[in-house]
Amino acid sequence: MTTSGTASDVFDHLGIRPIINGHHWRTVLGGSIMPPEVVQAMTESSGYFINVDDLHMKAGEYLARITGAEAGMVTAGCAAAQVLQAAACMTGMDDTKIVQLPDTAGMRDEIIIQKGHRNHYDNCYRIAGAKLVEIDTTGDTNGDKLSAAITKNTAAVAFAWHARFYGIKMEEVIKIAHSSQVPVIVDAAAELPPLENLTKFTDMGADLVAFSGGKGIRGPQSTGILVGKKSLVDSAFRNAIRTSMDKTGIGRPMKVCKEEIVGLVKALELFLEKDHEGEWAEWRSMSEIITNMLKDIKGLNVYLNEGPVYPGPAAPTATIFFKDSWNGPSPSDISNLLMEGNPPIYAGTDPQPNALWIAPVALQRGEEIIIAERLRKIFTDTQ
Ligand SMILES: *Cc1c(COP(=O)(O)O)cnc(C)c1O
Repeated sequence: MTTSGTASDVFDHLGIRPIINGHHWRTVLGGSIMPPEVVQAMTESSGYFINVDDLHMKAGEYLARITGAEAGMVTAGCAAAQVLQAAACMTGMDDTKIVQLPDTAGMRDEIIIQKGHRNHYDNCYRIAGAKLVEIDTTGDTNGDKLSAAITKNTAAVAFAWHARFYGIKMEEVIKIAHSSQVPVIVDAAAELPPLENLTKFTDMGADLVAFSGGKGIRGPQSTGILVGKKSLVDSAFRNAIRTSMDKTGIGRPMKVCKEEIVGLVKALELFLEKDHEGEWAEWRSMSEIITNMLKDIKGLNVYLNEGPVYPGPAAPTATIFFKDSWNGPSPSDISNLLMEGNPPIYAGTDPQPNALWIAPVALQRGEEIIIAERLRKIFTDTQ
């Protein structure tokens, strides 16, 4: 069978149905939708040969400029940036060590992480060969456990910004780590927007900060941003792209192509120029349409949540709380009904077991009405 090359032909050919994403800029749902200018920049750049090392260097300088960091580089997603964070903190600029990874013999190879910051991406540090040392700082904001855990084997302290409400705060983590000359590496994958986060962690003194390029920035999904201290970014670069020896480093399989580098830079230019307040208002308006269309249903408490809802995005989110008096299907059953419909709709169900939420960040205008109508029908048909 052949396809003519348009996306819908390819999806038809493969038997794939596009969905409505009321969840988040989630990798498994396709990240985000790139603005047409980004797609166009990628398409045009594919018509040229360029020196990719030069493109990487110049793009890295751009990232440093806009984040206020000493240096930066484009990576193959935030997860790849995390592999490189760990590698850089273990090897420094020593090419013998770089080609030796993931065998860490002779290197500091422990990365300390607070228990509440553990998440499935922390395995990226282990991929580089590092060992995770977990400290339980439940209900404990003083830094004693961190100070006690730092040894001569500590390569870095990891901090996941989405878990900042838990345990020792970032300012304190940085102070303690730096007093032992240990770098702090930050996972800020889904933390843009808000725009201020672009410079925030670097300003706070974090040594290496990683963001996703394909979430709120709306660049290519397989791009990421690594910024920080020049010596460490230089080391990440050697681990990813070029050693002086005739072997590649651990980051080489996480390659970024020229089209993706160009696409990420274009997406960042647009992100910096964007009317962020206008976007927030647009999101709120879509979420309000959903809450208004559902708020009269008995047994439910339907409201707009403007706070951060991990694992959801920081955006005005339509939240449906199922009261004890609700006698219809459970939130997870309803989520399944939404996914089985046509088109399939993805909503958020955790972390509260008796709640369902719809985030507007990945919705395209009009889809909020389809979601609200579908939910209304499910709520009224199944009661
Ligand atoms: C999405 C995400 C990642 C991975 O980001 P990619 O850009 O998809 O590689 C890492 N950490 C957290 C907390 C995330 O949400």
